[in-house]
Amino acid sequence: MFVQNYWFTTLLEHDYPTCPPLMQDITCDVLVVGGGMSGVSCAAALMDKGLDVVLVEKNILGGSSSGRSAGFLTPDSELELSQLVRRFGLQGARAIWEVPVKGIALIKEHVERFDIACDFRRQDSLFVGIGKGGKKDVQDEFDCRRQVGFTDQLIYDRQELEHHIGSVGFTGAVRYSNTYGIDSLQYLQGMKRVLLERGVRVFENTEIRSLEGNTAHGHAGCIKAGQVVVAIDKMTHRFAPLADEVFHAQTFLSISEPLSDADVARLFPGGEEFQMWDSTLVYSYWRLVAGNRLLLGGGNGITTFLPNAWYHADVIDGVHKRFKSHFPFLKELHFPQYWPGRIDTSRDLLPIIVKDRTNPTVHFIQGVVGLPWASFSGHFVAANILGTATAEDQRYYTYFTDRRRFAFPVWLEKVIGKPALFAMNNGWAKYYQVDKGHEPGYRDNEF
Ligand SMILES: Cc1cc2nc3c(=O)[nH]c(=O)nc-3n(C[C@H](O)[C@H](O)[C@H](O)COP(=O)(O)OP(=O)(O)OC[C@H]3O[C@@H](n4cnc5c(N)ncnc54)[C@H](O)[C@@H]3O)c2cc1C
Repeated sequence: MFVQNYWFTTLLEHDYPTCPPLMQDITCDVLVVGGGMSGVSCAAALMDKGLDVVLVEKNILGGSSSGRSAGFLTPDSELELSQLVRRFGLQGARAIWEVPVKGIALIKEHVERFDIACDFRRQDSLFVGIGKGGKKDVQDEFDCRRQVGFTDQLIYDRQELEHHIGSVGFTGAVRYSNTYGIDSLQYLQGMKRVLLERGVRVFENTEIRSLEGNTAHGHAGCIKAGQVVVAIDKMTHRFAPLADEVFHAQTFLSISEPLSDADVARLFPGGEEFQMWDSTLVYSYWRLVAGNRLLLGGGNGITTFLPNAWYHADVIDGVHKRFKSHFPFLKELHFPQYWPGRIDTSRDLLPIIVKDRTNPTVHFIQGVVGLPWASFSGHFVAANILGTATAEDQRYYTYFTDRRRFAFPVWLEKVIGKPALFAMNNGWAKYYQVDKGHEPGYRDNEF
């Protein structure tokens, strides 16, 4: 196995425009810093609106998490619906679930409207249970979807599941629709062409080193903007004290050799493709991508929060072994390529979307877990800049403020370290947190 992001390999299939770095001082109406799903979605919502928009990315568009991701477009990210219901109640959970649902719809609309070649494919979600606990998780998720008012879910027991996937050992599954698979690096590179055609100035290979008021400083040029959207990952204090609010979780992905048509038929005996993940805490996830290759990802409990676990091939080896125990007919399948990735996250796995209190023309999108959430977040901030966000939409500033109540405070990091602090907070948000009265609580001190 060698270490390389497979999506970068797929870029060679297309001829994308390259955007040279910023080499002079410029001005604009809106500057978007960070060309991941959040930043590109924001720039896309701002294009064609008569504003002079600049997008700056230190790598290529999609060069970080967004272009390393597994491309599952499902509202589930790290938080399942039942976990949101426990914390926010039925109404709150429904409002928050709408975030990724809208995010998926936005991506789909772009793919169709701009005809972007990005292996966009319908894949219903299948959340599969392992063991007794997993069976219960599946049932809980199914019940919860019904309570919230969704109607598209199906539940399968062990025997029924065998008609849909050629697996052994799963104790059941819940299935739902309107979910898709995507090559998100191709999507973002495709969107680059759209942005350029519509007059957005895009600078790649341009790292913004600091932000002073509304001026962003790069190595060879500055950008002075009316409004600034900071949608970067691995943020440092040079940008804002918000850097403390975000950490990252490590996951690993790998790509298989092409499966034969017979293997695909055994994998999906019902003839329908699924994207799947299991019910374990550090879950494994897999789906089919172009060329009949299997994309398989996961991690383990130890390396998830380790800061430097990049090249631990044994982690992905463990994921392969677990996968093959459920799909023994694929036991000889080889995965030639793997790559690690660090997903930025807040302490409770929900995004942080805030304006600088002393300068509300500077907006921050931080710690977004999931492409659909990122797509929504960028679009939401753009709508607020354009003044088109509805009064009802403003509730998302409440849900996603950095002032919401977290289980353990940031200062504890000095005592127990950032990985432990985030592991504890993430665990609490997933399994225990209940917001009193189901409205987000506030801290006094704020960004
Ligand atoms: C291995 C892996 C698998 C994943 N799988 C899935 C999945 O299947 N489904 C899903 O929904 N989500 C998945 N995710 C999570 C998802 O990719 C992220 O949550 C999402 O992409 C976040 O988007 P973003 O735009 O907020 O951040 P990013 O994609 O990280 O974008 C931030 C951008 O800012 C740029 N930047 C940083 N600093 C600067 C600077 N100083 N100046 C200029 N630019 C800067 C970075 O280069 C980067 O391109 C996965 C993540 C990883 C790592």
